[in-house]
Amino acid sequence: MFIKAFSPDHFNHGDVAPFEILHFSSFGLDRAQVKRANMFSKLVDGYVPSRDKTAVHTIAMTASEKFGFNRNGDGWKRANLIRDHPTFISHAKVFRHHKNTPGDDSYGVVKAAAYNEDMDRVELLMELDNSKCAEELGLLERNGSYPVSMACKIAHDVCSICENKAKTPKEYCQHIKQSLGKILDDGRAVGVDNPSSTFFDISRVIRPADRVAYTLKTASAGIIGGAALAEQLGYAVEFTEAIGATLNCSYKSAQEKQEILQKISKMEKRISGVAKPILLDNEPEVAATVKKLATYVPMYLDLVMRGMVKEGVILRPAEFYTLMTGAELDPMDAKAFNKSSGVSNLSESSSEEIIHSSLYEPAQLASGGKIAELCANLRPYRGVAEGIFGRIVGSQTGNNPSIKVSSSSMNVNWAKEYVKYQLEMNKNIKNAFTASSFDDLLFCGLCQNIVE
Ligand SMILES: [Zn+2]
Repeated sequence: MFIKAFSPDHFNHGDVAPFEILHFSSFGLDRAQVKRANMFSKLVDGYVPSRDKTAVHTIAMTASEKFGFNRNGDGWKRANLIRDHPTFISHAKVFRHHKNTPGDDSYGVVKAAAYNEDMDRVELLMELDNSKCAEELGLLERNGSYPVSMACKIAHDVCSICENKAKTPKEYCQHIKQSLGKILDDGRAVGVDNPSSTFFDISRVIRPADRVAYTLKTASAGIIGGAALAEQLGYAVEFTEAIGATLNCSYKSAQEKQEILQKISKMEKRISGVAKPILLDNEPEVAATVKKLATYVPMYLDLVMRGMVKEGVILRPAEFYTLMTGAELDPMDAKAFNKSSGVSNLSESSSEEIIHSSLYEPAQLASGGKIAELCANLRPYRGVAEGIFGRIVGSQTGNNPSIKVSSSSMNVNWAKEYVKYQLEMNKNIKNAFTASSFDDLLFCGLCQNIVE
């Protein structure tokens, strides 16, 4: 027996957001939502959640025959989901941080579960406690999503290539050990089928410290799989290492980041060979400030991100590395890392992962005190919101040396982390500084990475 963790965001749903808050009036469910929650018409007919509860419609999983394996390489077939989905009601409550024994406080319940045969997916009607889940519900209202992880117990899973049955991750065949989530040359996808599941946990798990631990831990790992994810989350190990599970941003946020990624990619290609601007800078002061800010990471990562958004600040790659680790790269490595962190070299699969990341999402609350002060110090040298013209002090002509990702894995993985950060910052700064030209903002952020 082992445990698989997953998130609704890990499944392909077509174009539908996985979560939607259901609004009820004295006449019942809001008319615009009747279509979405139609599966629950029997329950919904006459159902109104009590005043201290909110109903959330969730598309929990999709069938692998139609939608393929999820992003961890896990698949659940239609017939098995039809048989097993009722365990969501009998076994799963909504917890925080996987405190899922009967003695723990639950934050909500799965009121109903249904298999939607037309759409080939499992849908849940969750009822969340308004006061205990205020944060989750706030995120849902604003972003259309919130980071949640679900888990099930399975007796074994089955390799899609050789049909090897594994009762624990130790029994995995070479396909799963080496190529989980990949597509073979003959077009077959490498994944595992989960023939029999008991769904027992729905948790909200992310704290900023978890995100940083996760970043540092996985900067050298590839796709990790549902079983490995469960282990990291503390489901399978005795000491609960509460590493953030479902590190996916909302559907809407991923779309915005996808657009920004494409823009940056185009712009990067154009920049090579143009006159290089000389920007107002003070590297020693920036370095000292970033080191001070790094002392607030991991606990207050989200507040540090919020502070930088407020000042319109984006760090250069080597500075970002210092912020996350507290360590400084030596000057040659810093220079190479600054140059190698472009988006043009990303593979398609890593750009998928990058746009869906929620690791660097800023806090909703404004940051104050020392963090705000330090971020303000960075503005003259790393502020991109006034556009390039606010900081330009001269120019230099000549070709830029071509930008290449170094083959060292530290650089490739940290370059990916940098792009996640860069997209998150650009997206949030764009929304915070509506008056400035977005192209100028992106351009300024890129230029500061290619100056010598
Ligand atoms: Zn196999």
